Formats: sequence, C-alpha cells, structure tokens
Amino acid sequence: MQHFEIAVVGGGLAGSIAALALARVGRKVALIAPGSEKADERTTALMDQSIRFLERLGIWDDIAPSAAPLCVMQIIDGTKRLLRAPTAQFRAQDVELYAFGYNIPNPALSGVLSAAVDAEANISKIDASVETLDYTDERAALTLSDGAIVTADFVIGSDGRKSKARETAGIGVRTWSYPQSAVVLNFVHTLPHGNISTEFHTENGPFTQVPLPGNRSSLVWVVKPDEAQRLLALPTPELSRQVEDRMQSMLGKVSVEGQPQAWPLSSLMADRFGKGRLALIGEAAHAFPPIGAQGLNLSLRDIISLQEQLAATGTERPIPADAGERFNRHRRPDVMSRTFGVDLLNRSLLSDFLPVQMLRAAGLHILTKAPPLRNLLMQEGVEPGRGFRSIVETLRHEIRR
Ligand SMILES: Cc1cc2nc3c(=O)[nH]c(=O)nc-3n(C[C@H](O)[C@H](O)[C@H](O)COP(=O)(O)OP(=O)(O)OC[C@H]3O[C@@H](n4cnc5c(N)ncnc54)[C@H](O)[C@@H]3O)c2cc1C
Repeated sequence: MQHFEIAVVGGGLAGSIAALALARVGRKVALIAPGSEKADERTTALMDQSIRFLERLGIWDDIAPSAAPLCVMQIIDGTKRLLRAPTAQFRAQDVELYAFGYNIPNPALSGVLSAAVDAEANISKIDASVETLDYTDERAALTLSDGAIVTADFVIGSDGRKSKARETAGIGVRTWSYPQSAVVLNFVHTLPHGNISTEFHTENGPFTQVPLPGNRSSLVWVVKPDEAQRLLALPTPELSRQVEDRMQSMLGKVSVEGQPQAWPLSSLMADRFGKGRLALIGEAAHAFPPIGAQGLNLSLRDIISLQEQLAATGTERPIPADAGERFNRHRRPDVMSRTFGVDLLNRSLLSDFLPVQMLRAAGLHILTKAPPLRNLLMQEGVEPGRGFRSIVETLRHEIRR
C-alpha cells in the first residue's frame, strides 16, 4: 500500500494545478486521475493574479505563446428593452496594468500542465478513479477503480461537480440550474481585435467575444438550450454569418473554426469547502455560469490559499487533522460573494421585471460616469482586496503629505 502526504482526486485544470502547487512546496503528492477525457474546446480567461501564480509555478512561459492579452473589456447592452444600459468600457492601463489577464485555449493549458506534472519528481500520477474514501484520525484511505488502496495525510477533492470526495465526506451541496446553455466556439476575423474583449448583454444571457492570438477570437454565446442545439446544427458558413451579425461586423468577416460545443449552465455550492483531512476545490466546491471569467480564477485562489496554509505548517511536520476546517473558514467569504454575485448578474439579464432592468442600467451608468468606482471594480475583478488596498495606500500617502 502506497502512502502520500497529499492525494489529489481528479486531474482537470484545478486538480493538475493543485498537484503542481503542493509538489512545488515539497509535499509528496499522488494525482489520481482517470486517463481519457472528452475534448474540451473552451478557452479560459485568467486574470492577472492567476497569471502571476502560473509564473511562480514556472509554467507561464510555456503557456504564453498560445495566449492573448485582455487589455480592454467592454459591455454593450444588446437587449431590445426600453431601458438599455450605456456601453461601459474598462481599460487595464487605468489600474496600472498592461492587461487584466490572458485568454488561453484549454487544450494548450492542459498540454502544458500535463507535461509539468510528468516532469515533477514530487508527483506520482495514478491512472485510475477513486471508488471510496475512508477517514481515520491519522489518515485517509482511498480505494481505486483497479482495486489498489492508497493512503494519504490529506485529500484534495478536485473531482468536479459530481464529486465523490464531497459525497463520501457527507458534505451536502446546493445546486440550481438556469434555462441556458453556453455555445462555445473559436473564429477567425478579418479586422484586428486590438486585445479588446466585448460582452454583449442580451435577453437570453451574455454573448462574449474574447481575443486569441492573431486575428482570432473565442466566443461564449449563452442562449436557451433548444437554440443552442439549433446553432450547433447550422452549416458553418451560416453559423459564421450569425456570429458576425451579432458582433455587428465589429471584427469584419467571421469564419467559425472547428466544431462548436454546448455546455448546459447551472450553479453549485458545497455546504462547506473542507472538513478534517479533506479540502474541496474547483467545481467540486463551486460552479456558476461563465460570466466575467470567474470559475477557474476562483479555483486558483482556492489553490493559492491551500498552498500557503500547507507550506506554513512546514514540510517536516505532518499535516494537521483539522486542516480542512481551516481551509473552509478561509475560503468561505470569497466563494460565497463570487457565487452570489455571478448569480445576481445572470438573473438581472434574464429578468423581464422593469425595476430590475432599471437597476442594472443605472449600475452600468454610474460605472461609466464615476471613474473612482469603476477603478475599484476593475481592481477587485483582477484580484479581490486589490482595490481596497489601493484606497488604503492612497489615504496613507495623503495623510503623510
Ligand atoms: C463555457 C464555459 C466557459 C468558461 N470560461 C471560463 C473562463 O474564461 N475563466 C475562468 O476562470 N473559468 C471559466 N470557466 C470555468 C472553468 O472552465 C472551470 O472552473 C474549470 O474547468 C473546472 O475545472 P475542475 O478541474 O474544477 O473540474 P473538471 O474539469 O470537471 O475536472 C474534474 C476531474 O475530476 C475527474 N474525476 C471525476 N470523478 C473522479 C473520481 N471518482 N476519481 C478521480 N477523478 C475523478 C474527472 O475525470 C475530471 O477530469 C468556464 C466554464 C464554462 C462551462
């Protein structure tokens, strides 16, 4: 029976990055992940804080050639409603950054992660899934699909929405769905995007173009589920024409590449994010619709927090039996505020209730007219706490003068 300090269950983006992060602080890690995955044609926008974390892990230089910077983000009200919000534009240079973050194709991100995991001496990759987990005061025992048993001082459950790690620990979960699917695709265009991402808000949800390197972009188009099936069945030239129409030909002629995919949208939040010798991260802990690029960014903050916590105990000392409780306390405010914030924004788009539309339009109007508030929002979007830190620094500076 093999023993590890940490067993990471699930080798998606969150699990692979967690394994790497904990291995890099000297922990002996087992990454337990079944081999075959379905093709994932999505792209992921990662914000500045996440990019700096990937830099610290030493993998950003290999990812960067496949990524495009997000220097400007704009929101255009594409609804046909009576009360429409003004166009809101957010520039990274206004918060002293070159880019808010970068957009990365998931196959490129997974490819670099997989090579880094294979090259990391502190990680043992086990090609199996976890069938059962049992906890004692001293350790966790994981029974695998091939019948083998491995033990670990601590378990990281990164096994996605239907997490077995969460279920066997008796942690409940709240799930709620939306009448929406996200159609994701990449496209070539004849005009340059200028590193600008444009989000059109429509009655069915957002239609978001995000730059890729060259004259290419990715698209997340949120529609009703039957409309998603209709779009997937369209011949490519017709789909390209419909994307171009929606973009109001801002990027010239559009040609859709490859095979579009549809992802049903729902939200999920575990009742707690850690317990005893277990921490839940990524979609095992929280999931919500792809609005404002929050999902994996939030998961990376789970991992940063876990890495700091487990590095602080010192690698010569065993991981304490209550590390899960500590992790739960640390992560609760951030996870809850992001989950409910995204839910509120999504519902405000779907709502036909006039006062809700008025509030959304007024909110965007205030943001366009009040640069300090806009800057605060932008800084908080890049890294929670950054905006408030900058206010404190400005106040300190003014008091000293
Ligand atoms: C359309 C769309 C666009 C998005 N865009 C963005 C974006 O721009 N920016 C952003 O930050 N986020 C974005 N997200 C969110 C982001 O994609 C997810 O947060 C992220 O991919 C989730 O990764 P995960 O590793 O937590 O879960 P998963 O990808 O679900 O991985 C879970 C893994 O666990 C494995 N597993 C399951 N059960 C077991 C078991 N018993 N034993 C072992 N392994 C197991 C599975 O095989 C899988 O590999 C988007 C999401 C969607 C739907």
